[in-house]
Amino acid sequence: MAEDYFVTGLDLALERGSPSYSHWVKKVSTANAGRGLVQFAWNGMIDKDADPVLAWIDFERWVCSCPDPNCDGLELVCLEEPFFFCLSCGNFAIDGLAYPVEFPSQVEREQLYSELLKRPVRRPPGVPRSRAAFLTKSVVPGLSRSWVPGESIDDLKAQRRAAGQGNAQPGGQLPPRPKSQLRSRRLAQGDRDFSDGELSS
Ligand SMILES: [Zn+2]
Repeated sequence: MAEDYFVTGLDLALERGSPSYSHWVKKVSTANAGRGLVQFAWNGMIDKDADPVLAWIDFERWVCSCPDPNCDGLELVCLEEPFFFCLSCGNFAIDGLAYPVEFPSQVEREQLYSELLKRPVRRPPGVPRSRAAFLTKSVVPGLSRSWVPGESIDDLKAQRRAAGQGNAQPGGQLPPRPKSQLRSRRLAQGDRDFSDGELSS
C-alpha cells in the first residue's frame, strides 16, 4: 500500500481548510481557549519528557485517548506530525504542551489495514473521508475496523473467525484523498510553522 489508508488528523485538517494538522490544532485550540473552554491553546511545542501516547484505530481512524485519567478526550492523530493535544482539556496536566505519539511501524500498519479491511462495513456515500469513517457501521456486530495496541494480527483474525467472518467478502472502501488534498499534503509536510517546533529537532 503506497500510502496509509486509514483516516488521520491530516485528513480532518485538510477538509477543514487547514494546510496541516498542527495548523488546525493551533487554530481550534486557540478558539477554544479564547472562549474560555480550556486554559491553554497549543503553542506548537511538545513535552519531550512526557511518555508517548499510543495511537490506536477507532473505526478506520488513527486516534489517541487523552492520558489524563480525569479526561475522556479522544482526538484524531497524524502520522506526519505525531503529537497529541487534547481539545477537551487543553493538556492542562502538562501546561498545554503536546504529548509525543507512537504509531506502529509502517509494516505493522500495512498488516493491520490488510486484516481490518476484511471486515465488512457500510457508510453513507458522498461524504469526506473523516466523516465517512466516523459514520461507518459494522455489518457484523462487534466486528469493527478497530485495533488497540497489544492486539496481534492473529488476535484480529481470531476475532473475525469467531464472528463467523473467516472468509468475509471485503467491505466498503473509504473515499480516496482528493488530488487537491494530496497537493496540500506536500505543502503540509514542508510547513515552516511546524518545522520550527520541537518535533523536528
Ligand atoms: Zn484531555
